[in-house]
Amino acid sequence: EKKLCRTVRQVEPSPIREMFTKATEYENVISLGIGEPDFHTPAPVSQSALEDALAGYTHYTASQGQPELLDALTAYLNPNYGGELKRENIMLTVGGMGALVGSFRAIFDPGDEIIVPEPYFPAYKAMIALSDGVMVNARTTFEDGFTVKPEEIERRITPKTKAILLNSPNNPTGAMIPKEDLDQIAELVKKHDLLVISDEVYDRFVFDNQKHDSIYNRPGMAERTLVIGSFSKAFAMTGWRLGWVFGPKELIAGVLKVTTFYTSCPSSVSQRAGLAALNQPEETWLEISRAFEKRRDIAYEALSAMDGVKVHKPAGSFYIFPSIKELTDDTLAFSLELLDKKQVVVVPGSGFGPSGTDCVRLACTVSEKDLTLALEKMADFCKALK
Ligand code: PLP
Repeated sequence: EKKLCRTVRQVEPSPIREMFTKATEYENVISLGIGEPDFHTPAPVSQSALEDALAGYTHYTASQGQPELLDALTAYLNPNYGGELKRENIMLTVGGMGALVGSFRAIFDPGDEIIVPEPYFPAYKAMIALSDGVMVNARTTFEDGFTVKPEEIERRITPKTKAILLNSPNNPTGAMIPKEDLDQIAELVKKHDLLVISDEVYDRFVFDNQKHDSIYNRPGMAERTLVIGSFSKAFAMTGWRLGWVFGPKELIAGVLKVTTFYTSCPSSVSQRAGLAALNQPEETWLEISRAFEKRRDIAYEALSAMDGVKVHKPAGSFYIFPSIKELTDDTLAFSLELLDKKQVVVVPGSGFGPSGTDCVRLACTVSEKDLTLALEKMADFCKALK
């Protein structure tokens, strides 16, 4: 055991994994467990990348990314982020994960704290620990729709606080932080001279004609915010492993230093696919987003009608996070039994931090037909528990 360092020994395996391992023991499982679009990468994107590979795009690129893609991405982002982004403000990474790890590694001295609202994407915990940071959680409640209150963030600020992490739309809840709260959080960040890491990988999945909103656009925040983005979800490109981070040039230079020596650059072929994705008609991507909105409606309606289940309508992402507190106080046991009796996979909420203990996460990443069937099975299961 001593062969591994303490930090790595202390990283816990994701509790979500237990569900997947168990699920392999069953047949005809419908999995609402996986946070990955079921859609394949649109054929024109893959085709274009394959052709580019044959044409010789098979070499290392600049660590920051291919200039053509950097420029296309900047042009894609600028209308939504103040219009001032230049090449020096942005870089490509190995997925959103690469952007997160690079950002954490670039900003923490050992023991620096980052405030992470619950429920949170479980990988944050390990990534922060592996970057010498300390995760300090801010609590949220079902009643508040699981969006973090500025007062709760302020309560967690100490002399060691370096940054605040925001994830809106959120995995696992689908919640978006209300505008006024983002305004107030921005004021706190400036008052205490902090940074923000804003994980916006679900930015294209925002429903009910609302618009994605970023703390980056608040006055004075562009100089202290790193925004994390990804081709994975929005463009159905999880396997290509391509993401980005943008922000003030000094911070980006630091992240670039990290990733240059960690990974040198993202795959050249993937970067060509990214460029092709940005050149597709907008309708290609709207279709995906609309499909997730429709599924959100199906899931919300079905869960709202279930005995003993309470749920908020997600404003974005492709997750939904119902409370099953009236049915059980052990959501892991509930999830395992739902798998055993009905062959439906959901993920226990405790894996996303204590605030989510009463909930389970459903990812609407299967067809409408399978989603409807899975929800019927879950309804039967819940009825039997009542
Ligand atoms: N951030 C959040 C909130 C996520 O849910 C995910 C993936 O599930 C990621 C980042 C990383 O995704 P990728 O590395 O595929 O871009």
